[in-house]
Amino acid sequence: MRLRIWTTLFLATIAQVAWGQTSTNPKLVNAEVTSPEPSVNSYTVLGATSEQEALVRAQIRIMQPDVYPLRVLFVPHWKYVDTTRTFRLHVPAGYTSAMFTHLPSRSVFIDSDRYVSDDSLGYWVAHELGHLAANSASENAADKAAREYRKHLKAARKPDVH
Ligand SMILES: [Zn+2]
Repeated sequence: MRLRIWTTLFLATIAQVAWGQTSTNPKLVNAEVTSPEPSVNSYTVLGATSEQEALVRAQIRIMQPDVYPLRVLFVPHWKYVDTTRTFRLHVPAGYTSAMFTHLPSRSVFIDSDRYVSDDSLGYWVAHELGHLAANSASENAADKAAREYRKHLKAARKPDVH
């Protein structure tokens, strides 16, 4: 019961944040744009350790996605499972099951108990950014868009050849 109430509050908060973003005065947005890459750091990372946040931000910067998330949420496994149920998501077994994207709110949820390495984090975040870029729940469409992002990640990992 407490679990259910918590989830409702959680989702209500997301809805409020999403509403706040969509109702932003466009004039204000323009006034705030001083950087040539306005969307790069304008998303929120929640629930992450400082290392996780730095890592996921660095990876997203490298991938240069066409569409940025509005928020990236690191959640413990039980919360993650409960959230997928709340969204009635079908998460294919063994497939991107450590993260998913809620397209209407452009939120990427990451199961912080399940991602295993920095490389796998980038690999699967690329897939989630692919969903955003394609604005589609299709796994094929997401993987197609993710291919380009994974190339960027791979290039960034290569040692300098000067
Ligand atoms: Zn997917």
